Amino acid sequence: MKYYSLNNADNTASFREAVINGIAPDRGLYFPANINALPPSFFEKIENLSNVEIAYEAIQQFVGDEIPKDRLLSILKNVLDFEFPIVELTENIATLELFHGPTMAFKDVGARFMANCLGYFSEGNKTNITVLVATSGDTGGAVANGFLGVEGVSVVILYPSGKVSNIQEKQLTTLGKNITAFEVEGTFDDCQNMVKTAFLDTEITSKSKLTSANSINVARWLPQCFYFLIAYKQAKLKGKEIVFSVPSGNFGNICAGMVAQKLGMPVKNFIAATNVNDVVPNYMKSGTYEPKPSVATISNAMDVGDPSNFIRIQKIYNNNLAELQKNLSSYAFTDKQTKEAMKQVYSQTGYLTDPHGAVGYLGVKKFQEQHPNSYGIFLETAHPVKFLPVVKETMNLTPEIPFQIKKVMNKQKVAYQIASYQQLKDYLVNVSS
Ligand SMILES: *Cc1c(COP(=O)(O)O)cnc(C)c1O
Repeated sequence: MKYYSLNNADNTASFREAVINGIAPDRGLYFPANINALPPSFFEKIENLSNVEIAYEAIQQFVGDEIPKDRLLSILKNVLDFEFPIVELTENIATLELFHGPTMAFKDVGARFMANCLGYFSEGNKTNITVLVATSGDTGGAVANGFLGVEGVSVVILYPSGKVSNIQEKQLTTLGKNITAFEVEGTFDDCQNMVKTAFLDTEITSKSKLTSANSINVARWLPQCFYFLIAYKQAKLKGKEIVFSVPSGNFGNICAGMVAQKLGMPVKNFIAATNVNDVVPNYMKSGTYEPKPSVATISNAMDVGDPSNFIRIQKIYNNNLAELQKNLSSYAFTDKQTKEAMKQVYSQTGYLTDPHGAVGYLGVKKFQEQHPNSYGIFLETAHPVKFLPVVKETMNLTPEIPFQIKKVMNKQKVAYQIASYQQLKDYLVNVSS
C-alpha cells in the first residue's frame, strides 16, 4: 500500500516508510492512497468471524505485502488478546468498553500494533530506532507497555511533572528495560516542543533514527478501526440504525471509525463529543477552523486545541463541509455537565463512567433529541480508576482497583528530572554514540 503526504501528494511512502518516519519529510500527515470497501458478504457474516479475522480483513490492504500474512496474523493475535464488550445501558444506548487492555485506556491497541510493526521492520537492522513521545497521560503508558522488550527499539517518554495522574505516572516510569522516562519541569506543550526540536536537530538525527508514536503515525491510527467493526459485530443484530459517539481530542479514534465506514460498515452517523476544547464543534457550525490554546478539563486526554487528525477527516470527505455535516455531528460539553452525566448514568443504570466516556454519553443524548430511534454507542475510552480523584469526588465512591493497576502501584518510579532541552539532547546524543 502506498501512502502520500497531505502536504503534497507527490511525496509518497510505503507502509514501512510511513511507520518508521511517523510524519512525512514535508511535515504532512500520511494518508493511504486508497481505501477499498470490503465485500458486502464480510458485513453480512461478520458475526461468524473472530476479532482477529475481522482485524486482518480490515488492515490487510493498508499493510499490503510488506508484512507476511502469518506474521500479520500473529501480530493481530498479540494485539487483540483482550475483550471489547458492548454493555447495554438502556433500550437505545450502549457503551463500548475499550479499557480492558494492559494500561486500561483505548490507546493500547494502536500502541501495541505500532510496536509490533516497528519490531518487525527493525529485525536485522544495525541501527537502533528511538521512539520519542510526549504525553499528557494515557499515551505514555500505552506506548511504554506496547514497546516493552521490543528489540531494536528504544523508547523515550517525556511527561510534565505533576500534571499526570499518579497511576499514569507509575505506568510509564516503572517498566525499565528499553523504556526511559523524562519528567519535565513544565507543561505538556513544553514536552511536545522538546520532541519537535529533537526531530529537527541534526546532531541527534545524524546519529540515530528518531520516530514518534502519537496518533499521527499510521500504525497507531488505522488499527483503531477495529473497535468500530468489533462493536458493529455485536450490535448489528439489534437491527437498528447505529450511531457512534466518540469522546475526541486529537480525533484519531473517530477518524479511524470513518475508515471503518469507508470499508463498508453500515453506520448512520458519527458524533464527535468534546470537552470545552471546541475547535471542531465550532468548525462544524461556522466552516472556519480556528485552533486555540488548550484549556485544562477533567477529561484531560481530550484537552487539545488543534486536533492533528482533523485534516485526515477532511480528506475522507474531500474537504466538503456539507458532506461532512451529513455524517458527523459535534457537540462540546463543560466539566459541570460531564460530572452531572456521570451521576445521572450511575443513578439511572448503575454504570460507572469515566469523565471521557461521560462526554461520549452526553453526545449520544444530544443527538437522540433529534433522532430518538437511533441506537447510540458511546466509547468508554478509559477505566474510571485512571481518573480516580475526579471519580471519587464526583461520585462519592471508590471504585475497585483492577489488577493491571495494582501491579504497577507498588513499583518504584524511575525518571530523569529535566528542565531544559539541552538535557534531553545530551541523553539522546550519548545513548546513540
Ligand atoms: C486519547 C484519549 C482520548 C482522545 O482520543 P483521540 O483519538 O485523540 O481523539 C479520549 N479518551 C481517552 C481516555 C484518551 O486516552
